Amino acid sequence: MISEADVIVIGAGGLGAATAFHLVKRGAQNVVLLDKYDVGSQTSPRAAGMVSCVRKSELMIELIKLAAEKLRRFTEETGQPLDWVRSGSLKVARRASDVTVIEDDIVRGRRLGLDVERISPEEAHRLNPFLEPDGVAAVMRVGDDMYFDPAQVAVGFARGAQARGATLLPHTGVTRVLIERGAVTGVETNRGTIHGSIVVDAAGAWTRQIAEVSGIRIPLVPTAQQLFVTDPVPGVRPDLPMVRVMDAAVYVRPCDGGFLWGVYEEDPRFFDMGSLGESFQIKDMPLDAAVLWRYADDVKRQLPVLSKAKVREHRGGIPTMTADGQYIVGPMPGARGFFFASGCNVAGLSISPALGDALAAWILDGAPPLDLTPLAVTRFIPGSWSEQQLQEQARWQYRHFYGSV
Ligand SMILES: Cc1cc2nc3c(=O)[nH]c(=O)nc-3n(C[C@H](O)[C@H](O)[C@H](O)COP(=O)(O)OP(=O)(O)OC[C@H]3O[C@@H](n4cnc5c(N)ncnc54)[C@H](O)[C@@H]3O)c2cc1C
Repeated sequence: MISEADVIVIGAGGLGAATAFHLVKRGAQNVVLLDKYDVGSQTSPRAAGMVSCVRKSELMIELIKLAAEKLRRFTEETGQPLDWVRSGSLKVARRASDVTVIEDDIVRGRRLGLDVERISPEEAHRLNPFLEPDGVAAVMRVGDDMYFDPAQVAVGFARGAQARGATLLPHTGVTRVLIERGAVTGVETNRGTIHGSIVVDAAGAWTRQIAEVSGIRIPLVPTAQQLFVTDPVPGVRPDLPMVRVMDAAVYVRPCDGGFLWGVYEEDPRFFDMGSLGESFQIKDMPLDAAVLWRYADDVKRQLPVLSKAKVREHRGGIPTMTADGQYIVGPMPGARGFFFASGCNVAGLSISPALGDALAAWILDGAPPLDLTPLAVTRFIPGSWSEQQLQEQARWQYRHFYGSV
């Protein structure tokens, strides 16, 4: 067990592993990536692995474009495998109010160079015959969208970091970040203390818990998200465009000859990670198939296949929601050397290559390559929010992930 490091990254999920990889790629010498469990074993491998390029803000579009490009060059950059398909996607509005959102999406997307257009419901059906035009008011085609194997990203970044000299410490749980006179001095783990002046909290669902031991409150809500993978369905090709039904907040993509699909339900389950016990892992999260079946019924006119296809896998994880639906990335004022990479809002894996790179530059050069002020933790003024307000806003953000109004 080592006792000194220049940078200590807590959490080898997509966000932590991407940060560690980019730190060593940018020349950092003594980087340690530690995880309480196996590398890439918690929420990251359970994701859908979808990249959604049309976001609500210009900054997010810029970041996800960078991230998508890095995912396509993943093997070249990290030396590790990543399976991906640039299938494009179809965003479906069923209500007049959501048609306006799609129109705005197209204007914003085009301004930032995305391949977006409005197509007729019949054309959408031609592109993906599993999407029926019945009850569809408008469709946006996004040519830039893609999907990838979620199980390969965190592990790939971690192995890539190790190959460039980072130290991986799986099965090493951080119990406290040490802060003295307003500056980080290291971490206490269940295997001993590691001294160092820079610590990144990328502990996913546990981010907040780790910060709170040091008296720092991070406003994010660990939230359940689950999906089904079906048996193969005749006619499904890997390049069928993914489908997102806005008001139902249902998403679908091809997966191993069948479909993978999930939902941002109306009333998501939130977790207080501290109350779940020391040995809780994401695989212990109780799943609830009834939620998914309820939404299969909601979209049965547009996606009848979801109600009919046999389910071969049901999985879920605990991403973290914030009050404004934006990530929490960057330094913690008042605790010099303490950085965060969290608040993934169910979209952290796809953007992890860009956020990891930006955070690595921030740590090493003192500033990120593009202005990430909207992601700073300081946007939440301490004491200005109650737990109840935070949960209400997080619930709204979760349900309105596709911008439906
Ligand atoms: C069903 C589902 C679908 C999703 N779909 C998508 C999608 O299509 N696109 C997308 O971009 N995102 C998607 N997501 C979200 C995505 O999974 C997350 O944004 C991403 O995985 C978050 O990565 P992370 O590194 O923050 O968390 P994690 O992968 O959970 O990693 C955090 C790590 O920190 C470690 N840790 C915790 N506490 C400690 C401690 N005390 N000491 C040391 N280590 C610790 C954990 O063991 C864990 O390995 C989906 C999520 C789910 C569940």
